[in-house]
Amino acid sequence: MELEAHAEELASDLGVDKEEVKSDLQNLVEYSVPIDEAKGSLRRKYGDGSGGSGTPESKDIAEVSPDDGSVTVTGVVLTAGKRSIRYQGDDHVIVEGRLADETGVVDYTSWEDFGLSPGDTITAGNASVREWDGEPELNLGESTSLSVETESLEVSAETESLEVSAEIGGDADLADLQTGDRAVSIEVAVLECERRTIDGRDGETEILSGVFGDESGRLPFTNWDPAPEIEEGNTVRIENAYVQEFRGVPEVNVSEFSTVTDLDREIEVGADATTMDVGEAVRTGGIYDVEVVGNVIAVRDGSGLIQRCPECYRVVQKGQCRTHGDVEGIDDLRVKAILDDGTGTLTAVLDDELTEQVYGGTLEDALEQAREAMDQEVVADRIHERIVGREYRVRGHLSVDEYGANLDAETFAESDDDPERRAHAFLESIDTEADDGEEVTA
Ligand SMILES: [Zn+2]
Repeated sequence: MELEAHAEELASDLGVDKEEVKSDLQNLVEYSVPIDEAKGSLRRKYGDGSGGSGTPESKDIAEVSPDDGSVTVTGVVLTAGKRSIRYQGDDHVIVEGRLADETGVVDYTSWEDFGLSPGDTITAGNASVREWDGEPELNLGESTSLSVETESLEVSAETESLEVSAEIGGDADLADLQTGDRAVSIEVAVLECERRTIDGRDGETEILSGVFGDESGRLPFTNWDPAPEIEEGNTVRIENAYVQEFRGVPEVNVSEFSTVTDLDREIEVGADATTMDVGEAVRTGGIYDVEVVGNVIAVRDGSGLIQRCPECYRVVQKGQCRTHGDVEGIDDLRVKAILDDGTGTLTAVLDDELTEQVYGGTLEDALEQAREAMDQEVVADRIHERIVGREYRVRGHLSVDEYGANLDAETFAESDDDPERRAHAFLESIDTEADDGEEVTA
């Protein structure tokens, strides 16, 4: 098509002056913008609300690619969850969820309130496509025309070609939830719950935080708009929650848009943590409640007798807190033990109670030992002697971030596996550890 013809088509689609469009188009093409891109840009500039030949072709969901500028799709709304986000300085309520047809499932974000509800069959005309985590995601906005179809599309929950379940509604087990999941429904027991005051973006706010459990496992949660039903010992059904990473592990977020109702049944909370290889656990990118077995190959700096800032509780070095400067540190015990099982390495972090166990004495004993030796490093040395070279079964919360893979230990017990096998595994792990380059006090 000639430039003239492109301009004509655009002008008629957009209902604007042809000469104006033509000169804009000419400009863009002179700057080496490909013609399709240039037309897309002008459609955005003049606002493509008219449909007509400007509406992109209909596609099967499986065919939608991140390279598509915009598409028209027909599908069933599987989930629709509202969430408030701050975008360019303003609060926006967006709706997020998943849309399915017979060929596939796609995530969507809706910037307008189209009143989407699970089970609706909709046609979204001119939905823009963006890439998110390597996958296409639909954006429904101002320029999207949305209609609810009277004839509903049948999607099967168990279609083999679908990688994700196409079940309507977002019912999920805690063990299956992942960072980024939206509009999920869960039935859980509130295992721990505390009220906290935080400095939110709109001043001080009260929130609830704690731990949920169900038959499949446990996950931490934050409830941004405290629901009276969420209290320790209660069982609740929560609809429209979302999952976000917090301190390296997935966390259930219950917002002002979530629905919380009392549940009239008991929930038997699964007592077993998932047991994994260290390498496998680290590759999850963070997991709540996991168990690994490995050899302690070193005790890191900052273990044994330490001092914490009375203000922020972070570890103080030479009487200096990074934030609060010169402080009178509070004595505490901690161990950072490097654990290796031949598939990978992580740092198991032991709190004061677990540290007392592996040290074989109380904080008082540790202080006295340090006073006598006039060196607090003797405490870490004794811990080193007692645990390095032994195999431990460690259960806790694994976070993986720029600080490395840290397993916040809840239990730390010497493994009761066969000692011969243990020695063998240990020697193997030493081999793979040799060029790791980790800074240790082995
Ligand atoms: Zn401090």
